[in-house]
Amino acid sequence: MQSMQSNQSKKAGATEELLAIAAKHVYPNNKPAKIVLARGQGSRLFDVEGRRFLDLAAGVAVCSLGHAHPKLTATIAAQAGRLMHVSNYFYNEENILLASELCELCEKEGLTRALLCNSGTEANEAMFKAVRRHFYVKGDKRSRIISFHNSFHGRTMGSLAMTGTPKYREGFGRIEGITHVTYGDLDAVAAEMGSDVAAVIVEAVQGEGGVIPAPLGFLEGLRALCNQHGALLVFDEVQTGIGRLGRWFGFQRSGSFAGVRPDAISLAKGLGGGFPIGAMVTSEELGSALPPGTHGSTFGGNPLACAAARTVLRVMEAEDIVPNVERKGQLLSAMLARVARELPNVCEGQRGEGLLRGLILRPGFVARDILPKLVDAGVLLLAAGERVLRFAPPLIITDAELEEGVAIVRKVLEELPAHSS
Ligand SMILES: *Cc1c(COP(=O)(O)O)cnc(C)c1O
Repeated sequence: MQSMQSNQSKKAGATEELLAIAAKHVYPNNKPAKIVLARGQGSRLFDVEGRRFLDLAAGVAVCSLGHAHPKLTATIAAQAGRLMHVSNYFYNEENILLASELCELCEKEGLTRALLCNSGTEANEAMFKAVRRHFYVKGDKRSRIISFHNSFHGRTMGSLAMTGTPKYREGFGRIEGITHVTYGDLDAVAAEMGSDVAAVIVEAVQGEGGVIPAPLGFLEGLRALCNQHGALLVFDEVQTGIGRLGRWFGFQRSGSFAGVRPDAISLAKGLGGGFPIGAMVTSEELGSALPPGTHGSTFGGNPLACAAARTVLRVMEAEDIVPNVERKGQLLSAMLARVARELPNVCEGQRGEGLLRGLILRPGFVARDILPKLVDAGVLLLAAGERVLRFAPPLIITDAELEEGVAIVRKVLEELPAHSS
C-alpha cells in the first residue's frame, strides 16, 4: 500500500506524487491533464494543491448544476441513507417516478416508455437492440442501421459500431449491418435508404465530432425519409439532451420549427448532474421491442441514480435553467465570434447551440494540444474533432464566469506560436 496524504490536503508536490502512482497503476487508456482534482464548487474546481480552475467542460457536458450543488448533494446523501440498490427484480419509487417524469418532458412527441441504465453507451446499446428487435418481433427482416461519419455513440461494441470515427473501431472486429454516411447530406441518406433499413441514428448537434449542428431542415428531412421507407428515426441525445442546447432535447426545435418526432432517444451525461445514469425513452410502439428476458442491467434504474436525476430535473424546472441556457448560449456565441474575429490567424469561426459551442481553429492547430496550456492558465476545456475547442460549461455558469473564461482562452490563443497552414 502506498501511503498518501488525504485528498483534502493542499500540499505542494502532492500532484507529482499521485501522478507517479498513476503512471504505474492506472490503466493507460486515457490521457488526463497533469493535475489531480479534489473538490468543486459551482463552476470552479480545485486540485490537491488548492489551485483553482474555471470549469468550462463540466465533466464533458455532465455536471449541469455545477459541482457540489446543495440540493443534488443533499438528495444523494439522503437517498444513500435510505435505499441505494434493489435490482430489477423489484420496483422502487424513484425509478418509477423518474420514468414518468422523463416521459412527461417528451409527451408532446409521443414518447411514453423509459428504460433506465447507467451510461450513454448503454442507452445506445438499448436503442440498437430495440430497433433491431422491433422488426424481428414483427417478422420483418430489416436490420440495417444508418449512422453518420464523425458521429459518436459510445465505446461498447454496438454503440462503437454505430460511431462514425473508423480509428475508434479499428482492431475490435465488425458488427454487420451499419452504414455511415455524411452528416447533413440528405441525398446521401436517400441513396442508402431501402426496405432493409431498420433505423437512422442521429445527433441533433454532433458533439465529439466537432460541435456540428444539424443543418436547417436536415432532421425534418430524415424524418420524412424514414417515414417513406418504414424505418425508425432515433436520436442520440446523450450530449444534447437535458437542456444543454437551450431546450430540453435536441430534437425539439424552438421558434417556427415544431421539431421532429423521434421513435426513441438516448440520454445520459447531463441527466444525473454528475451521478452516473443513462436512459432510453421510446414511443409506445417501440415499448414492446424488448420484452422480459431480452435486455436488462443490474444497476439500471437504481434508486440512488434515479433520485439524483429527479433532483436535476426538479432544480432545472424550479430555477428556469433551460431558457437561461438559450440566453447564455447567445452570449457565449457572441464572445467566441469576437475572439474569432480578433484572432483571425488562429481561429476560423465558432458554432454550436445553447451551451454546447465550438471555437474552430485554423488548419495546423490541434485542439487537444492547446488544452494543457489552458489548464496552466486556469481553464478546463474540451476538444472536439481535430481542431475545435469545445465549450460545455455547467448550465448554471454565470455571465461573469463565461466572460472570465473566454478572456483567458483568448489570451492563451493569442500567445500561441504562429502556425502556417
Ligand atoms: C458521451 C457520449 C456517448 C457515450 O456516453 P458514455 O456515458 O461515455 O458511455 C454517446 N453518445 C454521445 C452523443 C456522447 O456525447
